[in-house]
Amino acid sequence: MAQIDHLGIAVKSLSAAKSIYEKLGLTVSPEETVEQERVRLVMVPVGESRLELLEATSEDSAIAKFIAKRGEGIHHVCLRVPDLSAAVERMKKDGVRLVSDEIKIGAGGHKYVFVHPSSTGGVLMELVESHEHA
Ligand code: ZN
Repeated sequence: MAQIDHLGIAVKSLSAAKSIYEKLGLTVSPEETVEQERVRLVMVPVGESRLELLEATSEDSAIAKFIAKRGEGIHHVCLRVPDLSAAVERMKKDGVRLVSDEIKIGAGGHKYVFVHPSSTGGVLMELVESHEHA
């Protein structure tokens, strides 16, 4: 069963963006940097899901380009699926456009892939594989 793992939000300043969630009484995770995506991020757990606040660490980061083009705001929706390889295989077979053909390995060792907005009704979609759920 798929679930919303998190919503990714592109922000100009992490520290400014964090404060609104802290004012709402939410807990903000320590900052971490993901070198290969050239972003710095925090996670804000909200119920069973999370918000991911993303700040670019470089001009050529996808987040910097997104903000330049569209301003701050929701950048992607991340769904957690039980079997990522199977999902990717099915999508490729159906001609779904992926941002990269390969499944990538994230900072915490988690596997992820991005599906291009042209195949999802205009929303950049990240897919991750569920670990903690049986
Ligand atoms: Zn994400």
